Amino acid sequence: MTNNSSTTAVRFNKVSRYFGEVKAVDQVDLDIQDGEFFSMLGPSGSGKTTCLRMIAGFDRPTAGSIHLYGQDVSNLPPYERNVNTVFQDYALFPHMNVGENIAYGLMVKKVSKEERAKRVDEMLELVQLAGYAGRKPSQLSGGQRQRVALARALINHPKVLLLDEPLGALDLKLRQQMQVELKAIQKRVGITFIFVTHDQEEAITMSDRIAVFSQGGIEQVGSPLEIYEKPASAFVAGFVGTSNLISGEVARRLAGSENTFSLRPEKIHLGATLEASPKDVISVDGVVRDVIYLGLYTRYLVEIEGGIDLVVVEQNLKTTSMDVLSAKGRKVKLSWHRDHINPLGG
Ligand code: ATP
Repeated sequence: MTNNSSTTAVRFNKVSRYFGEVKAVDQVDLDIQDGEFFSMLGPSGSGKTTCLRMIAGFDRPTAGSIHLYGQDVSNLPPYERNVNTVFQDYALFPHMNVGENIAYGLMVKKVSKEERAKRVDEMLELVQLAGYAGRKPSQLSGGQRQRVALARALINHPKVLLLDEPLGALDLKLRQQMQVELKAIQKRVGITFIFVTHDQEEAITMSDRIAVFSQGGIEQVGSPLEIYEKPASAFVAGFVGTSNLISGEVARRLAGSENTFSLRPEKIHLGATLEASPKDVISVDGVVRDVIYLGLYTRYLVEIEGGIDLVVVEQNLKTTSMDVLSAKGRKVKLSWHRDHINPLGG
């Protein structure tokens, strides 16, 4: 993805956006490569949408510059940028049918009727809505409306497509289905997608790379695997999935240094012996304080020597809810592979 031959689609150079006292975006540096599916992930108010709006041109940086394919666009209006946006609320024209909605951008550009019809058909095909051109938006489901919004945004072949929580209004099943479809569409068209979400699972499912935002800054940029396996800070370790953070005296005893490290709950084995050479295994005694049965897996809270609690997750491969719930109060041995300890840089 990031190699010397790749083209930078979007570059943030020390970009800040202040609203009075509020530092919505604070000195952000960022490179997004051409053809990437890139997600901006973070909690509410962390600055993602403001970054997206500045790429679109709906907002301007207070300081710093934004480049699109090498051109400084910091002061260009939205219509002079080769960028399109898909919003969560679809923003379809209710009085126009699906075909007219999709063709709108081409009509504005005075593209001929024949050419418009051809490209609308291509787009309907792409978003799997062939045959729906004559319907009004009110006659569509939420997922179908979202596809129309996507087709309308893609028909002009923008260089960059911005998506602001586009799946937020859909129920979980449809959302998961659309995640897979969106990713497939992005690969097919090869356009750079920049996707804003506060849903870590969504970002991990779809993205080539993710930027994790917190309080107007970027905590870490990396592939889903890097972000999950090697979180750079306590914030990332906690926001993306669940993590145990261990520091001080307990960290020194378990990992040989008082510096904080993170350890994912699913990497900890409860009771069963680990298949690894003893020198690679870290073990500690504990007592199960709480058990939460979640169907597919069970979450245990285990107090270890030193008085700290570790979250441990195990799949319910053979166990029943009765088995796991009876574990409460039991003495257990926890163990994990030394490689699964992740020292935090931040
Ligand atoms: P969400 O997921 O809730 O949309 P976000 O990460 O996208 O959050 P932003 O919308 O970028 O966050 O907002 C960042 C900060 O800037 C917030 O504290 C917000 O209140 C503030 N902010 C955004 N737009 C404005 C504005 N027009 N005027 C004043 N403050 C603003």
